Amino acid sequence: MKIYNTLTRKKEELVPIKQGEISMYSCGPTVYNFFHVGNARPFILFDILRRYLEYRGFSVKFVQNFTDIDDKVIRRANEEHTTYDKIAERYIQEYFTDAKGLGIREATIHPKATDNIDAIIDTVRTLEQKGYAYSVGGDVYYRTRKFDSYGKLSHQPIEDLESGARIDVNDQKEDPLDFALWKSAKPGEPSWESPWGQGRPGWHIECSAMANRFLGETIDIHSGGVDLCFPHHENEIAQSEAVTGKPFAHYWMHNAFLTIDNQKMSKSLGNFFMVRDAAKIYGYQPIRFFMLSAHYRSPLNYSAESLEQSKAALSRLHTAFQNLEFLQEHSQTNEMSEKERVLCDALPKYRDRFCEAMDDDLNTADAISVIFELVRDFNSEFVGKTASKKAIDSSLQLLYELCNVLGLSPVKEEQSLDSEIETLIEARSEARKAKNFKEADRIRDELKSKGIILEDTPQGIKWSYIK
Ligand code: AMP
Ligand code: ZN
Repeated sequence: MKIYNTLTRKKEELVPIKQGEISMYSCGPTVYNFFHVGNARPFILFDILRRYLEYRGFSVKFVQNFTDIDDKVIRRANEEHTTYDKIAERYIQEYFTDAKGLGIREATIHPKATDNIDAIIDTVRTLEQKGYAYSVGGDVYYRTRKFDSYGKLSHQPIEDLESGARIDVNDQKEDPLDFALWKSAKPGEPSWESPWGQGRPGWHIECSAMANRFLGETIDIHSGGVDLCFPHHENEIAQSEAVTGKPFAHYWMHNAFLTIDNQKMSKSLGNFFMVRDAAKIYGYQPIRFFMLSAHYRSPLNYSAESLEQSKAALSRLHTAFQNLEFLQEHSQTNEMSEKERVLCDALPKYRDRFCEAMDDDLNTADAISVIFELVRDFNSEFVGKTASKKAIDSSLQLLYELCNVLGLSPVKEEQSLDSEIETLIEARSEARKAKNFKEADRIRDELKSKGIILEDTPQGIKWSYIK
């Protein structure tokens, strides 16, 4: 597989450090709010990269952090007269709700910055001991100019950065290019004990510390949105490589922006849609599909029209699954016709072309067109005709397989499923209270037929999908 490496500005063959294994680190959300459709782009994309690498037989260890302490989290907690950890915990749960809806699998590990304060402090101390960091009045800064290859990821010579750096009047830094590793505590703010007094970590240091702790000194792939390339990822490299003396990551991947009216979608510009709200209008699945419709290094413009188009395309896919499943159930013969045999013999070619697209720097747009070619060819071959079970089985199997790599579900999501289930559960409790056990059992069976199981817990009835 080839991926475009921001570090070398070339498409390169992916050669893992350990054969058959891939370590991946992706910068995750700051948890002070729901995430917006722009944030969803890297989450979906790197979920697909992981799924595809697993599909190709790699064992993938994927770490995506939660930034659970920073100015925004603290501000939100103050606004709501609560604590930073309550805010973070709430939006971590909301992240998982939206991620699940979007078909984003949980990472192998989702570390939180505040669970890794010791590792962060150790990293800062090592930097200080090696002369890469200095403390001033309880703050600790990174001595940027000491790191010779600073700027190598964003391909900017240090002189250019210098002229762009803002000089703050109250600045206690030795150099405007230096950045904070540790911030001394301000009154009323959450803080941790450290060799420099009470304080909290700067943003960049958490990723260096957690990547090292969970994935080791050098990782295969590090990723995030293109806005993180500078300064965040540049700073991560400077921190990690100064500590270990080894390359931090072999491949750096950056997705382009999701735009709206051709401007970056962002919270600060106020031109954003939360995934939660967009999903209420279009459903979660069309949002995922929409993200795959363009190459990840090209900007992608969000509009009602493109979401509607994605919804319609997905609906064609779901109809194809339904038709094939119907034919599979009703097929009378196992004997393949000559035409079916030709189609089935050609199936591996579709798979090859799908992989060719994905191998070419994760070209999901081309991979999707292969899926739709399959749908078109299946429709013209099978629909409205008698088909052999064998031919349908192999066709469906391939369609399931390829859709699964992209995280596209074969069934349409039920947007109102939750409330429907809650109503049935409620009716069942009422029936039980009234000692109408026959009705209660009937409702339990009805839920079971929808793939739902019930469990009595001290907190009441809990429902889950049958695994
Ligand atoms: P944040 O919570 O702001 O740190 O962002 C989480 C992730 O979303 C990062 O990888 C960002 O680069 C990415 N991101 C933020 N806005 C956009 C956007 N409009 N398009 C694509 N990626 C974005
Ligand atoms: Zn990061």
